[in-house]
Amino acid sequence: MKEIRKFINGFKEFRKEYYCRDDSPFLELQDHQAPSTMVIACSDSRTDPSLILQCEPGEIFVVRNIANIVPPYEPDTKLHGVSSALEYAVKFLKVQNIIILGHSSCGGIKSLMADEISEEDEFISRWLSVLSSVREKVRAHYQSVSVEACTACEMASILHSLNNLLTFPWIAEQVENGTLEIHGWYFDLKDGHLLSYNDESRLFEPLTLPILPLCGSVVNQTE
Ligand SMILES: [Zn+2]
Repeated sequence: MKEIRKFINGFKEFRKEYYCRDDSPFLELQDHQAPSTMVIACSDSRTDPSLILQCEPGEIFVVRNIANIVPPYEPDTKLHGVSSALEYAVKFLKVQNIIILGHSSCGGIKSLMADEISEEDEFISRWLSVLSSVREKVRAHYQSVSVEACTACEMASILHSLNNLLTFPWIAEQVENGTLEIHGWYFDLKDGHLLSYNDESRLFEPLTLPILPLCGSVVNQTE
């Protein structure tokens, strides 16, 4: 398989140029990690948080899933992947920040809004149902499944997940006493901007001010 060969060659390149270099971060990270921040991002192939935020190994503890969802606190006997990662990050790694990183053109949110799940779906629609109250609110407001409605749902789902974070008692307690911050971020793939939810203005606002100019290729595409 051509792709698999490409990945193996990629690993060889990584080992030579990165892992083995004199100042490799792996020299100090062979038997422990101490990331300051947990990032919950979408599984989407375009939204790798380490790439977007230019992080070195050891800096961010990452969970990725369809539509970057945090489900509510449910201490039952079921299997909870996101909750166990949150527990490890907060209780054991003692991260100081949790960032929920949503993005534009999210396929998960689009299928949630449009009820596009196929009959063969075994897990996806149940997973996305965490956001059903968000979908109903957005649908009621926009009366359609437009790009604007999907953008609103992408952003509202980040806020829903921020609220779900606070249903975990050990997260709520640390947020309350100031030892943990939670952030809702939105990566706009179309123009390459990063926005953050501002609690006071109740808007997603650019994190990079002044606003960065459009890239040359993006300008050319819009001409
Ligand atoms: Zn997505």
